[in-house]
Amino acid sequence: MDLLEYQAKELFREMGIPVLPSQRIDRPRDLKGLELPYPIVLKSQVYMGGRGRVGGVRFAENTIDAVAAAQTIFNLPIMGEYPKVLLAEAKYDVQQELYLAVALNRSIRRPVLLGSLKGGIDVRAAIDEMKYVVVDQEFSPFFARRLMLKMGLQGALINSVSAIVEKMYRLFLDNDLDLVEINPLGVSPTGEVMALDGKVTVNDDALARHPALAALNPKAPADPLHALDKLTPQTARSPEVVSTLNSDGQIGILCNGAGLTMATMDLVCQSGGKPANFLDIGSETHYSCMPDILGERLENGLEAIAQNKQVRVVLINLVSGTVSCEQIADAIVRFLQHQSRKVRSISEAREDGLVSRVARNPQLVVRLVGSHLAEAKERLSTTQALIIDDLEIAVSQAVSFTKQTKKPT
Ligand code: GDP
Ligand code: MN
Repeated sequence: MDLLEYQAKELFREMGIPVLPSQRIDRPRDLKGLELPYPIVLKSQVYMGGRGRVGGVRFAENTIDAVAAAQTIFNLPIMGEYPKVLLAEAKYDVQQELYLAVALNRSIRRPVLLGSLKGGIDVRAAIDEMKYVVVDQEFSPFFARRLMLKMGLQGALINSVSAIVEKMYRLFLDNDLDLVEINPLGVSPTGEVMALDGKVTVNDDALARHPALAALNPKAPADPLHALDKLTPQTARSPEVVSTLNSDGQIGILCNGAGLTMATMDLVCQSGGKPANFLDIGSETHYSCMPDILGERLENGLEAIAQNKQVRVVLINLVSGTVSCEQIADAIVRFLQHQSRKVRSISEAREDGLVSRVARNPQLVVRLVGSHLAEAKERLSTTQALIIDDLEIAVSQAVSFTKQTKKPT
């Protein structure tokens, strides 16, 4: 379960992680009674990231500007999700933006500390500079310090930033979190640090142990036939939830990152295709920047998309800075192997008269951007997945597959 920024910052405040004075805004006129000094920043409270890029974060110099900005943000869907509340915050003078996170690496079952000198909205820059420290023994400040040295922080920042990482780790342990992320951690010209944005993911299996966190669960009922522009927070929030679009669509779309997902969907529609469903397995800003986690999400995501028997083609469009195309291809191969084992057992069952229809695999069309692409092609060459470099060609290939193949009987 993800928390909204203002909820994450509440936890930060309790833990002593520096956050700015802020106020929750439920409707534009709340700004008239604002108790913060101007200038302020107004921020859309949605579960999706990348708000800064699309106008979900706005600065205001006075009440009139602020009310207008709030109206705009309330009416601005982000990945189909409208904010129910905004956060008004004192504006902070930033000189440098850092990225910090504590994430659970599921395959080694260990927490990992992540840090980048290039935080902020440019995800690619952040990832290029990303450093990791695996917490493979009992935690001590030493691990946080090691991250500081790997990141190349200097002077007084070593102490102030590592103190924040230690607190993030505490929060992570105390609340059974899957992720605590601060992006950006703003550094002021005088060297003070401030968490300007926060993301917290609570482990769903641990919610029962944390009733206060469980109470924050919006529990919005997911309507599988919701149109794209009416996506509920529920579908927009969890990367494992596939959003259904058209009951007669035949193309499943799987991408990483909200922008890429939307752009791919637009291309499919423009090429005369009809998307059945789509899934954003999460942009690299978050924990998916580690190979095993991206692989796991990809496999689970493909599985979830293929559950819809209407889907005859899955278009996979992934752009990755940290995870190599080869590792992505490996995850696709694992999915295909798993599917073919399933098909075999169903057809065996059919021979026993248990099921009337052989499950069929959707055709996969894959487009990858990243390192080791040649190796990825090699891996997929012996499978039924088709890998195509050019996005437009990949899209038209996917669309033409839906027109060639016969409907499943
Ligand atoms: P996101 O795009 O959804 O991750 O939203 P953020 O909360 O990270 O905001 C996007 C960007 O706005 C940040 O990277 C900062 O550069 C900027 N920003 C956010 N809050 C403040 C603030 O209080 N002061 C200043 N100067 N910049 C801010
Ligand atoms: Mn951010």
